[in-house]
Amino acid sequence: MTRAFSVPRIGLTGGIGSGKSTVAGMLADCGAAVVDADAISRQTTAANGAAMAAIKQIFGQSFITPGGALDRDAMRQLVFSDSAAKLRLEAIIHPLVTAETARQVRTAESAGARYIVFDVPLLVESGRWRRQVDQVLVVDCTEERQISRVMARNGWTREAVLKVMAGQASRAQRLAAADICIYNETLSLAELADLARAATARFGL
Ligand code: ADP
Repeated sequence: MTRAFSVPRIGLTGGIGSGKSTVAGMLADCGAAVVDADAISRQTTAANGAAMAAIKQIFGQSFITPGGALDRDAMRQLVFSDSAAKLRLEAIIHPLVTAETARQVRTAESAGARYIVFDVPLLVESGRWRRQVDQVLVVDCTEERQISRVMARNGWTREAVLKVMAGQASRAQRLAAADICIYNETLSLAELADLARAATARFGL
């Protein structure tokens, strides 16, 4: 494969309940350094997170919990109806996520990682991630399987899962962005691990 980066970078994505996090763990077992975009983003808005001072200054105290973290419910309601507010929030968070991602990549590279996996739930939805990876690995399954897995994992209602799925790319959109796809519908965990290993081999790793 053609590589843009000295240590190969794979973008890993999948809809909620597809098995993406499970595959990320399996790739870590195969020697990948996994950079978790959601975790980095959440850290910036946790208590004392790097984004909190700017969020307080721009959005005010009413978007901050008593513990000093972002009030996610309040912010979700605001950005749902106010796209300019969404852009302002992203303008605070994205550069911080970019900087922390770069820091984790440098750490992984100097620790001798063979390759780096960017675990990005919304890789297809947010174009900025695509430029940062050599290849995209999509974990896919039917929507019914997504729903049943997330209901079992999170104890959510069917409606709650559907609401999250409605905010994500469709299966077709994700598959269109895939260089490799793992169809995780009826696989055992052992079979899934075999396919994760095979995917790294196909990436030449
Ligand atoms: P995602 O990160 O895509 O939301 P997860 O990797 O957390 O999804 O998987 C959702 C749930 O389904 C988890 O509880 C996981 O253990 C389970 N799961 C995923 N794939 C399989 C599989 N092939 N066999 C059994 N359980 C699976």
